[in-house]
Amino acid sequence: MTDRFAALRNLPRLQLPVVTPPAPPPKKCKPNDLCSCGSHIKYKKCCMHKTLNAARDNNPLAKMQELMRSNKELAATMRKLTNKA
Ligand SMILES: [Zn+2]
Repeated sequence: MTDRFAALRNLPRLQLPVVTPPAPPPKKCKPNDLCSCGSHIKYKKCCMHKTLNAARDNNPLAKMQELMRSNKELAATMRKLTNKA
């Protein structure tokens, strides 16, 4: 029996990124309540931002918009590209 798949088996294992969606905060959490994670910080100063940041990190468009806000040169370049099209 020929080992047709030997080459495949010898390939380095692909490191697939593990995508774990951020755990949604308990719905009863209000911004001014103490955070349910036990940090004794108000939710709006604790996990609310983590949740928002995680949502933003998962959103390429939002990430690009933030990059453009923080980088005027990039923003100008993007504008030029958009005008050309
Ligand atoms: Zn928290």
